[in-house]
Amino acid sequence: MLVSTPIQPLKPLKPLQPHIPEKLSAYDLTLEEWQSWLKENGQPSFRAGQIFDWLYVKRVGSFEEMSNLSKELRRKLDESFIFVSLTEIASQQSKDGTVKFLFELADKNAIETVVMKHSYGNSVCVTTQVGCRIGCTFCASTLGGLKRNLSAGEIVAQIVKAQQLLDATGERVSSIVIMGIGEPFENYDAMLKFLKLMIHEKGLNIGARHITVSTSGIVPNIHRFADENMQINLAISIHAPNDELRSKLMPVNRRYPFAELIEACKYYLHTTGRRITFEYALMGGVNDKAEHAQELAVVLKEMLPLVHVNLIPVNFVMERDFKRTERDDIFAFQRILEKHNIPATIRREQGSDIAAACGQLRAKHMESQVR
Ligand code: SAH
Repeated sequence: MLVSTPIQPLKPLKPLQPHIPEKLSAYDLTLEEWQSWLKENGQPSFRAGQIFDWLYVKRVGSFEEMSNLSKELRRKLDESFIFVSLTEIASQQSKDGTVKFLFELADKNAIETVVMKHSYGNSVCVTTQVGCRIGCTFCASTLGGLKRNLSAGEIVAQIVKAQQLLDATGERVSSIVIMGIGEPFENYDAMLKFLKLMIHEKGLNIGARHITVSTSGIVPNIHRFADENMQINLAISIHAPNDELRSKLMPVNRRYPFAELIEACKYYLHTTGRRITFEYALMGGVNDKAEHAQELAVVLKEMLPLVHVNLIPVNFVMERDFKRTERDDIFAFQRILEKHNIPATIRREQGSDIAAACGQLRAKHMESQVR
């Protein structure tokens, strides 16, 4: 007889400290924060708009280049802020055009950013934390644990760097996915500030509907985010159709159980009227059987029509031994969902030749440093 061990619930995660850099970067300030800084420094507030324009529209590389500001003000800015907190230490380009950057932060930690080319435009995948403490069993990002949160400016700078790369060919960042390393809902305030800076009409002016934030299921912050009502797309890394299996794959489920997660998703739908994407990484023999698809369909059906499933063939991670689901079985899984009217797409892989899956380049970099 199969005896399943009861799942022990865990306490909610202790909130993390925000990362306050010793010196703020130019990308850490909102327009209003620039206005107050300028006021404190005896400057008219319209200069905030000028600074924003240099940073986000002209995208210069230093305060020195902000030629409509006085020399004195430029010197003051230089003294008070670092311009950018990221240094590119490596980049790789895939055959399909995907570019992956490895950036070094001021404290020498490394993070990754990926720029992907699609028929509908360019999307950038950003990192929100140095490492991750969520512990999903299939994920490379969590292998070395969490070092620290990123500041808002460190997240913003990833987009500016990506846009500067695209400037060379006259292209723009058309969408953003917060699906890089880290759990964005554990770095909530910085993530929110980042979002507000991205959608600001005087800044990069990226439409909220072109931005997606993905979470492993930090329930209290899903509620908080719903209440912001920002029209941003929400993605939930669900990966299992029930409590027992989800707890095995994702320890976060023992802190915020499946039923609570589903309730929070329904709250998000009702509050924002936006569709939720559920990410489901198919792992051979683990979560990819017909009965899993059936069970998932029953759970998600209640959210129709505001639901969509993204089926992801699991990416190979050396330290983990999950196998990929066979092609035919992926299609079979998709068909079961569709039979229940749940739209399901199979994620096209990008940059697989350059280990573009989250955490993989950074993991390699850390390994090479240890050797
Ligand atoms: N922490 C957030 C943001 C990361 S998004 C979250 O969990 O949603 C990155 C997505 O890739 C998540 O859905 C994550 O579960 C998934 N993922 C992680 N490792 C993977 C792997 N080896 N194969 C396929 N998907 C993976």
